[in-house]
Amino acid sequence: MKDRPVVLKLGGSVITEKDRPLTPNLQAIGRLAEEIARAKVSPIVIVHGGGSYGHPIAKTYRIAGGFKDQAQLVGFSKTHEAMVSLNRLVVENLLDRRLPAFGMAPSSFILTSKGRIQVFQGELLTRAIKTGLIPVLYGDAVLDTDQGFAILSGDQIAALLAVKLKAERLIMGVDVDGLYDSNPKTDSSARLISRLTLEEVSELANKIGGAEVSDVTGGMLGKVSELMAPVARGIETVIVNALKPDYVYRALKGEKVVGTRIEA
Ligand code: ADP
Repeated sequence: MKDRPVVLKLGGSVITEKDRPLTPNLQAIGRLAEEIARAKVSPIVIVHGGGSYGHPIAKTYRIAGGFKDQAQLVGFSKTHEAMVSLNRLVVENLLDRRLPAFGMAPSSFILTSKGRIQVFQGELLTRAIKTGLIPVLYGDAVLDTDQGFAILSGDQIAALLAVKLKAERLIMGVDVDGLYDSNPKTDSSARLISRLTLEEVSELANKIGGAEVSDVTGGMLGKVSELMAPVARGIETVIVNALKPDYVYRALKGEKVVGTRIEA
């Protein structure tokens, strides 16, 4: 690929109301679509999380733990379908801004083993990018060689894509200003860490908390561990607040913005 793409992850905590099942945050989705259109970054790949679409269903049917009984199969499918409908909302909003968004189901070209990506058939994705489309992927219920099925987080996908596509930049949009020294939602004395190295990440690991509500994929700690691989490969990686207007826009433009930058 001639130009290195930007990989933008939009957290489920941003594009949905995380504590209300199947409730999108339409205001945020619309505003982010407008910011992405205004930033005119190309090529770009977007990955979004599940928030209140994927997680509650995945939890009810215990999808993340893999196949245990027949009754889960409907839940597996329902989890995927919920994500398809959230993806449609994101794609439609991008199309409304005349961006050639193209929804692609990760479960159609990714296979995991114990929840970690094992097979990634990236040919269609790279071809879509080369053609000028904007692939829009999402955390998905996927088939798994070891446990039948698994939940694949948007974070793991975004980190893998950043590595595979040799991304120019990986932007993780979340609902807080970045990585704090403890969970800012429960600890009012939590302090934002604006820069940190890989080594410091491992030291912090035991202090960083999970997500607040029913997130089956690991919250901020899971997120930061996924970021280790792209950061180690020298890919510029930032965590920014996607609920605050223009933060994602500025990160897309490579401008200075409040957030957490992780370095090798
Ligand atoms: P998303 O769904 O957007 O991918 P998550 O909900 O999985 O994001 O993770 C973001 C959440 O992680 C924040 O809303 C915050 O409550 C929680 N969190 C826990 N520990 C921390 C921390 N040390 N710094 C920042 N956020 C944290």
